[in-house]
Amino acid sequence: MAHPALADNPTPTVVDSARGGGRSVSFTFDDGPNPPDTLRLLDVLREHRVKAVFCLWGEHVRQHPEVVRRIVADGHTLCNHGMRHDDMATWPAERIRADLLETTAAIRAAVPGARIPYFRAPYGNWGQTPAVAADLGMQALGWRLAIGDWETPGTAELVRRLREGITPGAVVLMHDGGGDRSQTIAAVDTVIPALRSEGWRLSLPARRG
Ligand SMILES: [Zn+2]
Repeated sequence: MAHPALADNPTPTVVDSARGGGRSVSFTFDDGPNPPDTLRLLDVLREHRVKAVFCLWGEHVRQHPEVVRRIVADGHTLCNHGMRHDDMATWPAERIRADLLETTAAIRAAVPGARIPYFRAPYGNWGQTPAVAADLGMQALGWRLAIGDWETPGTAELVRRLREGITPGAVVLMHDGGGDRSQTIAAVDTVIPALRSEGWRLSLPARRG
């Protein structure tokens, strides 16, 4: 029998599945905080009673700590997304570790003692990051569906990509930061009730790989 204290230890595996199985799906939002879009997204998630994961860009955390406080106050889950959104694919472990620790410190300067159970590598270029993140208590968090919302193809097209792309247990990557994300947020507002009417459950990602 596994030691119970080890049950929640992160593994150096990239998790890309939602908790719960069946028609469950996890929404994750990268590159914020980015007001006003993040604030509008928080309103939408609250209205639909959905909890999501926010993968925070450290420099943006320093600019908008009050938005991080609202994310936590609303009961969402945090994910470390690096301090400067660097591609870490070729970085040695020590450099990765320093960046992740700096990001965690920025988040905890905004929200003392904040839990940060996940890490997501910028651009999904993982390199050695999953093992370093696990060592720091964070599970690497990937995705099964990215909807290309950075292309800003229009809300209707984003809704179509979500409706056609979501599969049972998928972690979905979207963005609340990195540009004007109003289309993404409008698409989320539309798609949540549509998914629920078809029996889908919005859940958090699996805790470990
Ligand atoms: Zn990113």
